[in-house]
Amino acid sequence: MMHLQALVAVFVLVGAGLVSIAGGGTETTAPLQAGDARGGVQEKAPGFTPSTDAENRDPWVVVLGIAQDAGVPQAGTPAGEPIWAEPERHRWATALAVVEPRSNARWLIEATPHLVPQLHLLEQVAGPSPGPPVDGIFLTHGHMGHYTGLLHLGHEAMGARGIPVHAMPRMAAFLRENGPWEQLVSFGNIQLHPLADGEPVALAGGITVTPVQVPHRDEYTETVGFVIRGPRRAVLFLPDIDKWEAWDAQGTRLEDVLATVDRAYVDATFFADGELPGRDMSAIRHPFITETMARLAPLPAAERAKVRLIHLNHSNPALRGDSAARRQVEQAGMTVARRGERFGL
Ligand SMILES: [Zn+2]
Ligand SMILES: [Zn+2]
Repeated sequence: MMHLQALVAVFVLVGAGLVSIAGGGTETTAPLQAGDARGGVQEKAPGFTPSTDAENRDPWVVVLGIAQDAGVPQAGTPAGEPIWAEPERHRWATALAVVEPRSNARWLIEATPHLVPQLHLLEQVAGPSPGPPVDGIFLTHGHMGHYTGLLHLGHEAMGARGIPVHAMPRMAAFLRENGPWEQLVSFGNIQLHPLADGEPVALAGGITVTPVQVPHRDEYTETVGFVIRGPRRAVLFLPDIDKWEAWDAQGTRLEDVLATVDRAYVDATFFADGELPGRDMSAIRHPFITETMARLAPLPAAERAKVRLIHLNHSNPALRGDSAARRQVEQAGMTVARRGERFGL
């Protein structure tokens, strides 16, 4: 049986030969490629070539995955499901990278179970790194899709040296005190840097990354989103949150945060209620896409256009470019994020 990551890696290599994304100049988002087939039968992840645009020296972010923690397809997806024969519809867990071309530095936001192909993709789009593959990693919380990729930095794998891992206090303590993560710390593969809610971390090139604590199922750790600011633009990265109303209750409105950024990657785990037959969806709290669309409908189109949907569950019909759900998202003036899309900071 072919391993999923091997399948995915093969697909990236194949995809890289099919289409390419140019460096972009002042264009900050990779344009839709021929393989996108938005509205068509299938949607292909784009391939990539390293940026050759020497003019574009400002920092940028790139999307490395858009799926919920378990990816698409996930363990337990029956062999008869068409997705197994459609590698172009496979999706990696949600992650972002921040790239600073002047110092040739790059940071990961999340260490997902798909870290291996994601680091490969990052090198393809950002070029070879003079040092370790990443200069640091920021973690939102302790659920499977957001931190377990750290294992690839360890003794049995890369044997990394002192990669800075930025985490909130409970998250940092969880890593420090529990195997197998503890070994990453004691062997010096990673170096923990505690974050504080609302306190920006300054990176090279005038970039700051600020954690914003949000309500979520916090069994082991806190949960944060990040606001990433560059010299010109700011991005919100918020893959997991309970309902928007739970954030309201803590005194933060999505609309207000949206007004302070230029792009917002937000939790779109489920499209609508009833999506998981036989499971009580009130026990897995996320804002449904239908709720996000309804809530933001009164806003000006320019505000809605900032929204990029991420963290889509394998059950989410909006994953398909030819679905009615996708058409509704587009009619609402929002966009499902794509692996490989870039945005200049
Ligand atoms: Zn998640
Ligand atoms: Zn979570």
